[in-house]
Amino acid sequence: YVPGNEHMARCSASGRAVEVVREFEEGCSTSIGRLRQVVDAMAVEMNAGLASEGGSKLKMLLTFIDSLPDGKEMGTYYSIDLGATSLRVLRVELGGTRSMILRHQVESQPILPYLMTGTAEELFDFIAMTLQNFVEKVEGLEHTSDLRRELAFTFSFPVRQISVSSGILIRWTKGFAIEDAIGKDVARCLEEAMSKRGLNMRVTALVNDTVGSLALGHYHDEDAVAAVVIGTGTNACYVERTEAIIKSQGLLTNSGGMVINMEWGSFWSSHLPRTSYDISLDDESPNQNDQGFEKMISGMYLGDIVRRVLHRIAQESDIFGDAARCLAVPFMLRTPLMAAMHEDDSPDLREVARILRGNLDIQDIPLRARRIVVRVCDIVTRRAAMLAAAGIVGILKKIGRDGSDGVSTGRTESKSRRTVIAMEGGLYVSYGLFREYLNEALVEILGEEIAQNVVLRTCEDGSGIGAALLAASLSSNQ
Ligand code: BGC
Repeated sequence: YVPGNEHMARCSASGRAVEVVREFEEGCSTSIGRLRQVVDAMAVEMNAGLASEGGSKLKMLLTFIDSLPDGKEMGTYYSIDLGATSLRVLRVELGGTRSMILRHQVESQPILPYLMTGTAEELFDFIAMTLQNFVEKVEGLEHTSDLRRELAFTFSFPVRQISVSSGILIRWTKGFAIEDAIGKDVARCLEEAMSKRGLNMRVTALVNDTVGSLALGHYHDEDAVAAVVIGTGTNACYVERTEAIIKSQGLLTNSGGMVINMEWGSFWSSHLPRTSYDISLDDESPNQNDQGFEKMISGMYLGDIVRRVLHRIAQESDIFGDAARCLAVPFMLRTPLMAAMHEDDSPDLREVARILRGNLDIQDIPLRARRIVVRVCDIVTRRAAMLAAAGIVGILKKIGRDGSDGVSTGRTESKSRRTVIAMEGGLYVSYGLFREYLNEALVEILGEEIAQNVVLRTCEDGSGIGAALLAASLSSNQ
């Protein structure tokens, strides 16, 4: 037994941990040059997706929404918002003056895992039942069947719209896998489920969550031209000129524009900084080779990327003791916990230790190991926020609002024009460091002068309330 050897072995093991982190950090590099390449690729892919169906991984889906709420909307509307983790039902009373949402009531139900992988009938019956209970509660039992109510349905998955109130599910994302729903008109599925329960409602608007956010953003501020959701999943929509939507072959709208649901989660470019951890996450996911951008950015995945890196460290060094087993379990580390560790500002990183102990069964972790955990969280979040910022600048470039000469898009607009982007989703709204990195990156890519005209405006509950606003503006236009 040579006393010095054990010490040296420990040092080299923790040295290995530092090395794994350094390699990972290099792989995640988001230099300004690389971010600019991502911006350009986003703008190019947007054009390709608008030129022909299947022309790009970016689907650039038509929404048939050609005008956004302007504040004159009136009446009472219901809306259903099917998110990744919960179903929200809302009743919105509109007063006919801008910023006059008189009242809105919300109820939320968790979506249990069996519903995410069961049958279409089970899911839509659950939605109809939740809605029925809500209507009965807010209106009283006696009113439920006589009056026909208008319903906005926020469905946050890729849908090929047939009209503003109907659309076919292309495929699932965010862990949903209900095979028999793919290819079906989800608005009709919901109407059938409602009518079986004697609930007299018509889907007036079928909208993506980003489109709902844009509607609410525009209701409050008419400079809103795009919306971005960064939550469990991620996506963006924006207003495009109809003449630029080549694939719609001469489609005309009254306003000359239409909201496009980009489905940017499926954006892909060789310029994205992809590591071996991203590749294994994708390989093991139910939607392999799909939603590549989303898998680097959104809340469903960030915690699991961190877990994968920590697992590798646990295998190759002893700094986590014998925690490799727990870290091997997919999705053991959820993004909200990762964010809490990242934002732990106590000097001894107490919160990090508590979370690792309570949730991953990693006991008595030394301070240097806690620091490594925080470092990994930082790398993952920073990359995600930077890429999201590059995506946003890609949209600005496409619509001629990034201060460049507009050569690639044929659109140049005044450098001082104010542009508002409605923002929604837990990652953006509740994760301060993520938001800070994103804002910093916008300034870095755009430069101070242009960035000061770009306003990111948080729209809480935008997807649900905004959808109700759209249902209102659609019924007043009919
Ligand atoms: C879906 C989008 C949605 C986004 C944010 C993605 O996984 O494909 O339709 O807008 O998540 O909820």
